Amino acid sequence: MHKTIIIGTGPAGLTAAIYLARANMEPLVIEGWQPGGQLTTTTEVENFPGFPEGILGSELMSNMRKQAQRFGATFKTGSVRSVDFSKRPFTLEVEGIGQLQAESVIISTGASAKYLGIPGEQDNVGRGVSTCATCDGFFFRGKKIIVVGGGDSAMEEASFLTRFASEVRLVHRREELRASKIMQDRARENEKITWSLNRTPLEVVPGDIGLKGLRVRNNETGEEELLEADGVFVAIGHTPNTGFLGGQITTDEQGYILVKPGTSETNIPGVFACGDVQDKIYRQAITAAGSGCMAALDCERYLEAQAHEAVKA
Ligand code: NAP
Repeated sequence: MHKTIIIGTGPAGLTAAIYLARANMEPLVIEGWQPGGQLTTTTEVENFPGFPEGILGSELMSNMRKQAQRFGATFKTGSVRSVDFSKRPFTLEVEGIGQLQAESVIISTGASAKYLGIPGEQDNVGRGVSTCATCDGFFFRGKKIIVVGGGDSAMEEASFLTRFASEVRLVHRREELRASKIMQDRARENEKITWSLNRTPLEVVPGDIGLKGLRVRNNETGEEELLEADGVFVAIGHTPNTGFLGGQITTDEQGYILVKPGTSETNIPGVFACGDVQDKIYRQAITAAGSGCMAALDCERYLEAQAHEAVKA
């Protein structure tokens, strides 16, 4: 039986692990088959404080993992298939490990950016295809960029990318945008943004170096065309990784875990959430790390209170 199990090894889970390990809570961290979270899919991270020259995403995550291990966190590789939070201790069914039990659980399983699923897309992730403007926009100074999507994320990313790009083309599969009016207006007022609406993306076309562009179908005429671009930013939403919870933790309609305001507490005492699995607004490594720290402190207080109750009983 473990005092705490942390599920997920992005910046939120690893920060929680560092704090809990330093508090002698001996956390067990379950890392999935692709440890490190979304940061390992980006190249250089230039906005994490403390690294004036930037740091590779994979290196940052590897450093955080070593830091947690140094204080006594242990790691096991496996994928959590289901949980039982209806009775204590909590039970986790973990593929590759078996059944685990814990007094408390921290959920930091993150969210996965949705991809279009078209040819050429996955082959060029990190080579012109990105799902994170804040992470990768800087690498496209003076270049042509396409942003795909019609929601708030696409508007926000397109507006943000005009700081770097010579031109940002917004490609959306319908005529109408899903984005809020204020975000649409902001994007529409931006002279650097051009619009290719009613276009379905068909293929990311690589060039000799970098990308050639995005092949799309004009849904009005049925004709196909190549929209030239050095970068393609896919901004069609994220999916929080909460399916394995089987509805036992309260989420919003999109599946993001709802925490009590200003805390990491979920609807079940002893179960905490941090990072992108409960944050659809900020989604930054530093905010995830900060929320991981909050979850560790909330969890520590919870375990202390439980121990206190046990002594009194
Ligand atoms: P979203 O609102 O779900 O929008 C996703 C967009 O991608 C939609 O326009 C959708 O097209 C398009 N799309 C989805 N799958 C596609 C596919 N396979 N091929 C082509 N296009 C596809 O997602 P989001 O923009 O990430 O926003 C998520 C939530 O976060 C929203 O509640 C949003 O308000 C919030 N958010 C807020 C802010 C802010 O306030 N600053 C910033 C970002 C996000 P259709 O419209 O045709 O379905």
